[in-house]
Amino acid sequence: MTGDTFMTDIRDIIGDIWLSDELMGDLTAICDTGGRVAGTASEAAAQALLERRARDLGGQYSEQTFTVTGLRSQGHSVRLIASGRELESYPLLNCAAVDDVLPVIDLGRGTPSDFEGARDLIPGHAVLVRHEFPFSTNHVHRGVKLALAREYGAAAFLIGNNQPGAGAVSGSGGTGEPGEIPAFGLSHDATSELATALAFGPAEVHLVNEATAGEWTGRNIFVRFPGRTDDVVVLSAHIDGHGLAESAMDNGAGLATVLEVARRLGPRAADSERGLLVALFTFEEWALTGSAEYVASLDEAERGRIHCNVNVDTPVGYPRLYGLTAGNPVILDLLQRASRLGGTPVHPIYAHTTNSDHANFLAAGIPAVRLIGGYNDESAGSRLLLTAADTRHRIEPLDLKHGAIVTALVTLSAMQA
Ligand SMILES: [Zn+2]
Repeated sequence: MTGDTFMTDIRDIIGDIWLSDELMGDLTAICDTGGRVAGTASEAAAQALLERRARDLGGQYSEQTFTVTGLRSQGHSVRLIASGRELESYPLLNCAAVDDVLPVIDLGRGTPSDFEGARDLIPGHAVLVRHEFPFSTNHVHRGVKLALAREYGAAAFLIGNNQPGAGAVSGSGGTGEPGEIPAFGLSHDATSELATALAFGPAEVHLVNEATAGEWTGRNIFVRFPGRTDDVVVLSAHIDGHGLAESAMDNGAGLATVLEVARRLGPRAADSERGLLVALFTFEEWALTGSAEYVASLDEAERGRIHCNVNVDTPVGYPRLYGLTAGNPVILDLLQRASRLGGTPVHPIYAHTTNSDHANFLAAGIPAVRLIGGYNDESAGSRLLLTAADTRHRIEPLDLKHGAIVTALVTLSAMQA
């Protein structure tokens, strides 16, 4: 491809995405399937829709299936004993079964030093910690707090939503293996009610989670567009979500973006140095299982042919895209080239993040980036992920289009030598 055709191509791609009806149409259709908790009918409906969309892209369609076991909640409640009132709660994914009255200890934010300071008081208690804006360099992730709770001998884990008016917070709750403790998200109001009770003296909660063991088949969806060489760029998004809303920002927007970019770039792959492999992973919310299965299925030569992974997860909620680069030089160079092409910057974040499927590529030595709307700014829409507020109405169409254009420029840059 000559320089002139390349620039004409870029103008066409940007124009086509601005004018695309399919991008918003896909987001709507994906949100219509519900929250897409992996292994549920909602996720199955999304899989069926995405298979149709993927086949319509016109490349080489394939699938990978794998087995996942875990726990599913059939009913739950958290009741404050003193008042008899039920607190607004939601069992985290894979939450262990429980029917117990437990004393509570409030560890505030729930940092490692909060746990260490209360070391002798924690055993046998339900620990109360706070959810934090997850997309900042210095936050302490829920998974870290939950691991600390287990390590210090807590009997249960309660995490309070930091966002008022958004109901309980959800999230991953563990591996479902022996030794796991029951884990619930609480609403902001419920957290305040419990913390106030604890400020006056000891308080107990009655925790109930009816959990049954399940076994599910996960299905990753792929579409390949060969390039001039055997090398490929993997453009990915995760299918599954959480049950409280539509998982619209996380990650309906990422799925719609990947489909849109694949529509524009797929037909151009044959003229590009590297091909395009579209990968829609599932069971991401379960410890990144789908992408882990994919990366584990590759031999060394196949891994060597992946130039990089561009992983789109929550590309909305903010007027600018950030790239979580882990400081990888291939990725930093890629973001700079894409920024210059489109006259719109992709801001690099250097921290090593393990919050989405790109982490499995990085762990296998493959350059990888997660593209996300906003970072280190708590006004970003992503503050509402994992809550009932993650709906399509939170997505500004201009943000979605801008994110898709930037994703296309990053992916196209990676496909060129
Ligand atoms: Zn996500």
